[in-house]
Amino acid sequence: NWVDFVKFLNHIIDRFEMTKERHVTFKREFPNKEIFVEVDEDKLTQVIDNIISNALKYSPEGGRITYRIKELDGKIEISISDQGIGIPKENLEKVFERFYRVDRARTRQLGGTGLGLAIAKEMIGAHGGDIWAESKEGKGTTILFTLPYDPEQEDDWL
Ligand code: ATP
Ligand code: MG
Repeated sequence: NWVDFVKFLNHIIDRFEMTKERHVTFKREFPNKEIFVEVDEDKLTQVIDNIISNALKYSPEGGRITYRIKELDGKIEISISDQGIGIPKENLEKVFERFYRVDRARTRQLGGTGLGLAIAKEMIGAHGGDIWAESKEGKGTTILFTLPYDPEQEDDWL
């Protein structure tokens, strides 16, 4: 389906904002326009739910989660940044493997199976995008992904 990604992401974030129990603030940096992309809404919702759940799970009390949508050449880049514990450099790619979790002791009490990001990688790949992580230990983590985007596409409909 074709969806305005800005509206789509706003909806998902609103849902988290209404139900979140932790004291974490949300910040959105989105373009002031509609961005139509063709996506499987259920699958992308699952992907984004997991990224936001992770960001909340690993955020400190009072932390901020920043959501960005950037328009690049032929694609959009979506990023979700937290100010949590971070991921060690040597594990940045491994977190996208099935059942991989950075520190069993650390994550055991937080629950989860270690499948979320592996599924995300598969689904973003199926959409023709990429997904990766950037992080500074102790400072925070950013999960970024891209989706193909053609600004001309919208004009054709008018
Ligand atoms: P599931 O998503 O299946 O419930 P999970 O959250 O442990 O379980 P993933 O979402 O795949 O699994 O994440 C894999 C691992 O990557 C996590 O266990 C955690 O160690 C690390 N990780 C993911 N996101 C973050 C983050 N925002 N900050 C710090 N570590 C993270
Ligand atoms: Mg997860």
